[in-house]
Amino acid sequence: MFPGSQSMMTRLSRDFFPPHVVTFVSDRSADFKLSKSSNPLTKPQGAFLTKQLGFRLPEVLTVRQVHGNKILVAARGAARKSVSMEAADGILTDRPNLALAVRTADCLSVFIYDPRNEVVGLIHAGWRGTQQQIARRAVTLMRAHWDSRPRDLRVAFGPAIRSCCYQVASPFLEHFPRETVKRKQGYFFDLPQANKNQLVEAGVDAANITDCGVCTRCEPECFSYRREGESAGRMISLMMLKGKGV
Ligand SMILES: [Zn+2]
Repeated sequence: MFPGSQSMMTRLSRDFFPPHVVTFVSDRSADFKLSKSSNPLTKPQGAFLTKQLGFRLPEVLTVRQVHGNKILVAARGAARKSVSMEAADGILTDRPNLALAVRTADCLSVFIYDPRNEVVGLIHAGWRGTQQQIARRAVTLMRAHWDSRPRDLRVAFGPAIRSCCYQVASPFLEHFPRETVKRKQGYFFDLPQANKNQLVEAGVDAANITDCGVCTRCEPECFSYRREGESAGRMISLMMLKGKGV
């Protein structure tokens, strides 16, 4: 395992989130591409996570990511959906022992925790989702469902392609005027910064946002769509409120 994302997220969960808030990001030692079956994880993927986490995940909820801004709300007491693979790019829950999972290979995973209401959220944010304000939408939904106060929220950013490597076309300047920089080689987009700005505008305190700083394209232990193309594997990001019995 590389010293970047995995131990980084473990460290985040220890120092930034309380111990019962589990966060994890895998590296390229396992491919977490979505399985063709309706199970959220394949057997080897599940076994890999059990080994890395040191416990077996009781239940995993994942989504079929479509680069939109739809967020699944899995609230305690609500009827459980029989289909776990809904088309969405984020999940919110207050259910203990329900692990949320998103998959990335350059896109940003955003981990959100509301300590007052014990709610967690995990978002997959590429540029399209970011343009559709998915991070901001997560905050709006947390307010609507749990009366979350933005100033209470704690947010961590996982690995993502960063402005060192994320060369984009000039229309980005219109979509993201503040987060697109022009260099000699062209335009570069700062994806984490765009999400950070959105969260701050939604009322999250900038001091409560932490960023692992790992660039997936620079870091050889990460999967990167930009570096490896279509054949790139996927890293999994997990977030769970650890409850009794785990
Ligand atoms: Zn880079």
